[in-house]
Amino acid sequence: MTQRLQQVRDVLKEKRLTGLLVSNAENRMYLSGFTGSAGYLFITQDDAVLATDFRYVEQAGRQAPEFRVVRIGGSADWFPQLVAELGVGRLGFESDDMTVDSHQRMTRALRDGATSGGRRSSMVATAGLTEEVRAFKDASEVALIQRAIDISDQAMNAVAPTIEAGQTEADVAWRLERTMRELGADSLAFDIIVGSGPNGALPHHRAGERVIQEGEPIVIDMGARYQGYNSDLTRTVVVGEPDETLRRVYDTVLGAQLTAIATVQPGMTGVDADGLARKVIEDASYGDSFGHSLGHGVGLAVHEYPRVGPGAQGVLKEGMVFTIEPGIYIPGWGGVRIEDVVVLEKTGARTLSSAIKRDRMGG
Ligand code: ZN
Ligand code: ZN
Repeated sequence: MTQRLQQVRDVLKEKRLTGLLVSNAENRMYLSGFTGSAGYLFITQDDAVLATDFRYVEQAGRQAPEFRVVRIGGSADWFPQLVAELGVGRLGFESDDMTVDSHQRMTRALRDGATSGGRRSSMVATAGLTEEVRAFKDASEVALIQRAIDISDQAMNAVAPTIEAGQTEADVAWRLERTMRELGADSLAFDIIVGSGPNGALPHHRAGERVIQEGEPIVIDMGARYQGYNSDLTRTVVVGEPDETLRRVYDTVLGAQLTAIATVQPGMTGVDADGLARKVIEDASYGDSFGHSLGHGVGLAVHEYPRVGPGAQGVLKEGMVFTIEPGIYIPGWGGVRIEDVVVLEKTGARTLSSAIKRDRMGG
């Protein structure tokens, strides 16, 4: 935590902010260790305060030893008082998290507080400040992500071979959910997707009452959460023999995915990395059918920095953990997506997922 706080303090200096107000739950946990559902962090160069209500004061004291815990009540008085006490001038807040309502309330409290003799303080919008620090995973984080990945890998390996025609998507999703929980998942990372046949063409279809049939693609996308960290895994499977379209589409997606994993390098931008897989899909004339980004960072949130897709100008660096998940979707027929999580190392990507992946479906 000390190192994480220092990294944030360095960014504050760069941005000429005298303090940061953290409201985002994952950022709060990342920087302090506190897992409660409510509270704010107040970080300056010399101080670290965790402001939370009476339900969490004791827990916060135990989980966040590097923070001074301040108990807050219903009124917003605590806020200008703390700002004045810490001597904060330009206070960054998370504009991609805080509600307009909270922001208005705090700005008003600050203005009213300032007239009673405090120094002039202002709230400055920041977005992605802690998230950019979070994009780099230390060894302890990679270990927790690996644990979450192992759980979803094992569940996929156990359940995928038991899928039969006549079962519903919801049946399969439930068996996956139960297996992940039995293997030690604290919860699901997100609602499991089981998209059979035409449903697979809707990238975020969940799992419904549709009955699975032979020969059609079944897209399964799922993740486990373990001690706050998430996994994210997609496999496309088939019961019986794949039809001609499925053979061609599956092999194209697999080729795109393996190409990207083998060739992504630190120093590339997110758009460069996306292009590695997109070119394979475009060359097979399916370019218009790959309508989403190649991947996304994964950690305390299922979707976080870095961005890996069209328009992502940020540079991918050593220590970042992200998914590689190309897909092809054909309305009325279905879809194929294959997703693994990688960690970027000096020489390239190391794949953390090991769920069984069917080799080429074509000849
Ligand atoms: Zn996924
Ligand atoms: Zn994903």
